[in-house]
Amino acid sequence: MEAKHERVIIIGSGPAGLTAAIYTARASLAPLVIEGEPSSTSDQPGGQLMLTTEVENFPGFPEGIMGPELMSNFRGQAERFGAKFLTEKVTKVDFSARPFKVWVRDDEYHADAVIVSTGARSLMLGLEEEQRLIGHGLSTCATCDGFFFRDHHIAVVGGGDSAIEEASFLTKFASKVTLIHRRDEFRASKIMQERAFANPKIEVLWNHTVTKINGDDKVDGIEVTNTVDGSVSTLPVTGVFIAIGHRPNTDLFAGVLDMDDSGYLQTQPDSSYTNIDGVFACGDVQDHTYRQAITAAGSGCMAAIDTERWLEAQH
Ligand code: NAP
Repeated sequence: MEAKHERVIIIGSGPAGLTAAIYTARASLAPLVIEGEPSSTSDQPGGQLMLTTEVENFPGFPEGIMGPELMSNFRGQAERFGAKFLTEKVTKVDFSARPFKVWVRDDEYHADAVIVSTGARSLMLGLEEEQRLIGHGLSTCATCDGFFFRDHHIAVVGGGDSAIEEASFLTKFASKVTLIHRRDEFRASKIMQERAFANPKIEVLWNHTVTKINGDDKVDGIEVTNTVDGSVSTLPVTGVFIAIGHRPNTDLFAGVLDMDDSGYLQTQPDSSYTNIDGVFACGDVQDHTYRQAITAAGSGCMAAIDTERWLEAQH
């Protein structure tokens, strides 16, 4: 296939990428959004909000809105102004010369400018059995999988806002949720903690880590280890939800775009400029501080404006 030329390619389709798509589409740049693969748990189209339930803090929705519905609205708005979508994953990039080159398997795309908005993904515990049991009782997404655990006893691992949010949501289905945290206090915000403590279906297991997930083809209990005295016990759960944080999706850009020690892309102060002229970054892939849908959307807007002005300056 001959390489297709685009003015702007946007890699990733969370709030950052889709806001950049709305703005660049309205600037008549007809962006191509390479939005990710639906089968992927880490970089699915729509980003992390597709794995969320109710979003209560996105301005403009006083009653709240479900994450997937919000992303569907973003996408529809971008499409209305001429954004194009490719439901695939980028497999390789070459930003060493212009036009920039982006591959989806063997298909090559060229772009005058690229906006990187690949977001971040869920961290896992690093247990060998996680690979085998993901989707079989082990999950990182309560919204996607909670329904399958009606009247089950579920464990949620983590002590941040995500863990408490997942645990609270899962009480809609589960008979009991055990929230397992490795320390004796949560990292989560006070309001979220209060919600967890007030929920009679949530029991907190402090100072414990999950050291083994039992089951051959589905989760059948977990082994937990006390971080204070080292004692080991078993919990008879049939579902385990991991909610211990995220990592930026930047493997594609290793050695190409400047990153910090945690792998987040570095942008120049007060802009979305990366170290390569014409390649811009926005959203969680370059933000480990705020990581909110609204800040991601704001930085997507910045990237679109930076791109538009940069392209204008080139011609
Ligand atoms: P986070 O704040 O980084 O919390 C991760 C939690 O997982 C921490 O409690 C950490 O323990 C624990 N953890 C990490 N690695 C672990 C391991 N290997 N084994 C056991 N536990 C482990 O991540 P997050 O909860 O995903 O939140 C990320 C950001 O999004 C935060 O800024 C949060 O406020 C925001 N957020 C907001 C909302 C909301 O407002 N509705 C919802 C979700 C997320 P330690 O505490 O001991 O480090």
